[in-house]
Amino acid sequence: TPIIGIKNMMKTYKLGGETVHALNDVSLEIQKGEFLAIIGPSGSGKSTLMNMLGCLDRPNEGTYHLDGKDIGKMDDNSLATIRNRKIGFIFQNFNLLGKLSALENVELPLLYAGMPTRERRERALEGLDKVGLKDRAGHLPTQLSGGQQQRVAIARALVGQPAILLADEPTGALDSKTSKEILLLMKELNELGHTIILITHDLEIAKQARRMVSIQDGQLFENGGVLLGNAAI
Ligand code: ADP
Ligand code: ADP
Repeated sequence: TPIIGIKNMMKTYKLGGETVHALNDVSLEIQKGEFLAIIGPSGSGKSTLMNMLGCLDRPNEGTYHLDGKDIGKMDDNSLATIRNRKIGFIFQNFNLLGKLSALENVELPLLYAGMPTRERRERALEGLDKVGLKDRAGHLPTQLSGGQQQRVAIARALVGQPAILLADEPTGALDSKTSKEILLLMKELNELGHTIILITHDLEIAKQARRMVSIQDGQLFENGGVLLGNAAI
């Protein structure tokens, strides 16, 4: 069974008198171990889909199964629990806590999960090692480059052993050389078995994934779909 199964998902917003179909009959299956890019221009529905995939919101219609669990039937508390256990988030702006060291940032999800200090520290150090930053464990985010901060954020996303990594424009704040390094790291993590979903408006970035779907006006297309050749991307 796929790690993610979305069937006929609808998400509508009421805006004034109008109904916006942010997601319009979206179906998508993602297998364990895939590296999938979701590409679409501004306003196409990427954030809405990311919120669904990340268990931050529920659809109006259709179903979402994540790792065997039916997300649509869950209350807010269960949804939050699933989100914390199953999803590792990576954001454009890293979202590190500025007063905490690299190591402490990576430890945070384990702290929330109630893991004892020593084990937490060990696991976080292993995580930093995995992204090549073991020797920066004591540094504050401001003492790290953008690329290094994103590596810390990736270690934090991975440390709880989530079912999927969900990366929202992970290279959006980085220069092109650093972006390539971060994408290479994501490829390596995928080769180690991690399931990765990369959301972007940038075709060059999306091409780095092993599979691409595109979204336009809330509809999903396999491979580049109609979007390839669209000047908007
Ligand atoms: P993207 O992330 O690709 O820019 P979004 O998912 O943010 O796209 O938006 C998809 C569509 O849904 C757009 O037309 C947007 O205006 C609309 N939309 C998104 N969020 C809301 C909201 N909270 N209320 C009303 N309309 C929304
Ligand atoms: P921290 O607050 O520890 O720096 P994050 O900012 O990544 O870490 O988010 C902490 C937790 O909040 C995540 O583990 C996730 O469950 C949840 N989360 C992630 N992204 C969002 C979001 N966009 N909106 C709300 N909650 C989120």
